[in-house]
Amino acid sequence: MSIKNIGPAGIPNLGLGTFRMLAGETRDIVAAALAEGYRHIDTAQAYENEAEVGEGLRASGLPRDEVFVTTKILPRDFGAGAFRVAAERSLRALGTDHIDLLLLHWPSREVPLSETLPVLDALIEEGKVRFGGISNFTIAQTQEAGRILKAPVAANQVELHPFIDQSKLLAHLEAHSIPFEAYSPLAQGKVMRDPVLKEIAEAHDTSAAAVAVAWLLQKPNGVAIPKTAKKARLAGNLAAAEITLTAEEVDRIEGLARPDGRIVSPDNLAPNWD
Ligand code: NDP
Repeated sequence: MSIKNIGPAGIPNLGLGTFRMLAGETRDIVAAALAEGYRHIDTAQAYENEAEVGEGLRASGLPRDEVFVTTKILPRDFGAGAFRVAAERSLRALGTDHIDLLLLHWPSREVPLSETLPVLDALIEEGKVRFGGISNFTIAQTQEAGRILKAPVAANQVELHPFIDQSKLLAHLEAHSIPFEAYSPLAQGKVMRDPVLKEIAEAHDTSAAAVAVAWLLQKPNGVAIPKTAKKARLAGNLAAAEITLTAEEVDRIEGLARPDGRIVSPDNLAPNWD
């Protein structure tokens, strides 16, 4: 295996997450990741690091169109006017003339999708955004987004790692050829302590982190965005794209899911999960 481009947006299936990267370190990590071979960076307005992501991008010296940049807008800005203003804010912060993938970060409890998504379509038509998508959307919400957005729903970014059961949502996305982007693919550090993943890692002479990512990349239309702020870990995480797990190893990893495996579910944002 190696890095593949997924779905209508051609999302590089392994990217760098930047949630909770400290101010002052994001620029260097992004530049180092791009030097290491990463071509996909995931940020969000909520992470307050878009400007540094943009600086890292420019510091890398890579042409803009060789890097896939995703950002996200929070529901507080889903009103039609506010969404456009927020997208322009991201463009300014990133210092770029287009965003490759713009995601609705969480479903809104107040603003209907029929208000937000036409603005996303307009931004796509204007070339300011190449593709649009959603994050933390349930099956029903994904269906509604698909009915309203004229452009393809290029991804649903959701929590996915070996300890959470997302089988219903994944089956729906696969049936509709919608890529999933696995966030918190390392279960925010928990995969490194799992004995099964450690054992499989030893057999492949790699880390449990890389095994968890490889498992995600072997799924249909799968993208993973592990975060590290340690330069020494960038190469090892990226090398997950070169690992092929056996069917038996995949089965063992599938067996690690448990009912309380979800980590990210803020009361003020989370939908009624599938
Ligand atoms: P991850 O599952 O990617 O785990 C990150 C943690 O794992 C950090 O503590 C990191 O520490 C550690 N780590 C990374 N690589 C290794 C390694 N090889 N060995 C040991 N430890 C390692 O968590 P995130 O929640 O950050 O998820 C990834 C990305 O997904 C985010 O950064 C963000 O871009 C996105 N996201 C999106 C959400 C959404 O609502 N759409 C919600 C949450 C995340 P260190 O940095 O010190 O290496």
